[in-house]
Amino acid sequence: MQGTANSVKQARLLDESDDLSQFRSSFYIPKHQGQEVIYLCGNSLGLQPKAVASVIDEELDNWKTNGVEGHFNGVRPWMYYHKSFTSYWKDLIGAGEKEVVVMNNLTVNLHLLMLSFYRPAASRYKIIMEGHAFPSDQYAVESQVRLKGYQPDEAIIEVFPRSGEHYLRTEDIEDQIAKAGDELALVLFSGVQYYSGQFFDLPAIVDAGHQVGAYVGFDLAHAAGNVPLSLHDWGVDFATWCSYKYLNSGPGSVSGIYIHEQHATDRSFPRLAGWWGHNEQERFKMEKGFDPIPTAEGWQLSNAPVFSMAPHLASLKLFQEAGMANLRSKSLRLTSFLEEQLMGVKGYNTVFSIITPLDPKARGCQLSLLFHERGKSAFDWLSQHGVVADWREPDVIRVAPVPLYNSFEDVYRFAELLDQALSQ
Ligand SMILES: *Cc1c(COP(=O)(O)O)cnc(C)c1O
Repeated sequence: MQGTANSVKQARLLDESDDLSQFRSSFYIPKHQGQEVIYLCGNSLGLQPKAVASVIDEELDNWKTNGVEGHFNGVRPWMYYHKSFTSYWKDLIGAGEKEVVVMNNLTVNLHLLMLSFYRPAASRYKIIMEGHAFPSDQYAVESQVRLKGYQPDEAIIEVFPRSGEHYLRTEDIEDQIAKAGDELALVLFSGVQYYSGQFFDLPAIVDAGHQVGAYVGFDLAHAAGNVPLSLHDWGVDFATWCSYKYLNSGPGSVSGIYIHEQHATDRSFPRLAGWWGHNEQERFKMEKGFDPIPTAEGWQLSNAPVFSMAPHLASLKLFQEAGMANLRSKSLRLTSFLEEQLMGVKGYNTVFSIITPLDPKARGCQLSLLFHERGKSAFDWLSQHGVVADWREPDVIRVAPVPLYNSFEDVYRFAELLDQALSQ
């Protein structure tokens, strides 16, 4: 690898001048043969904040000492537990207090939101999405389409990269939306594409969708906590995300939904109903007649799963302390540093290439490396040498240095190890 001695020095200097470096010590870093791993898999499962155990303990304690009264007693009474999150969304995703609630899991929420926003009528029944979307999203969309009596291949339009390209051009997305015109009921894209790492031009997609009269929603699984979002200002109709990737809230932890205020406050907006979405003052009267809370909370079905929400709270506090703008600023530097280091690795652009957009505005922290040969063996070698990254069939290694706990030295060491792996 070229310029090795300089690079490690440079990495350490960058870490020393990094205002966010102290956040690493708020997380448990897994070990490999007694040494901290190079964890580049926060896009798949974020690391555990050290504060998690104590917030869960708080709820165990509330349950132990108060039993059912824990709904109204304790530090955070369970009846209102979901409200503990309202202050975080402005900075994280650009949403107002009425627009977000934390509930269920991601795919479940995708279905609930599609029941609200995918209501095909005679000539307007199509959904447009990116080709090769995350499988759960593909299954969700196909099943919704069938549920409404359509065949997936007549109702679903997929946008694919041009031949020889690896990510989408915004103009191609816009063109296909315009072409679908008034047949289009819904535009459903991811925010950051899980495979390519492309951060789509969300405001452009919203504008294109609204121009033809379609609703526009996003799956932000790889975007929330990774890239700056202004959902309300962009006019996004709805969105949902999971909390266990960049948001570090633990495996299978709760999901969030966003519904634009214009729809969230509309009590007649179609939805599936449950008692937790019902008027809070009247909830325990147990009477007939659903009276939805006039915010995103009106989409809640069940009482809050506090043991999965507690880690989420611990994690969001760290995001608030760090600030999303600061995190993005470090993230841009960290990922550019990764890109530079990869350019010095033997086999760059012959054995492997970066398929994520090189324009920093069009990506989050993840870079996806497409291997033309020896990908799996390099990946296995890296795993045996303390790198935790992610292998995606058939030939991609995804690496995601996250600004909350990864260092420039992590990035440097990863590139050095990849160089060694490819020299084997
Ligand atoms: C991670 C991810 C999922 C996972 O769905 P769950 O319901 O949380 O299991 C779905 N969609 C996308 C785009 C993802 O990245």
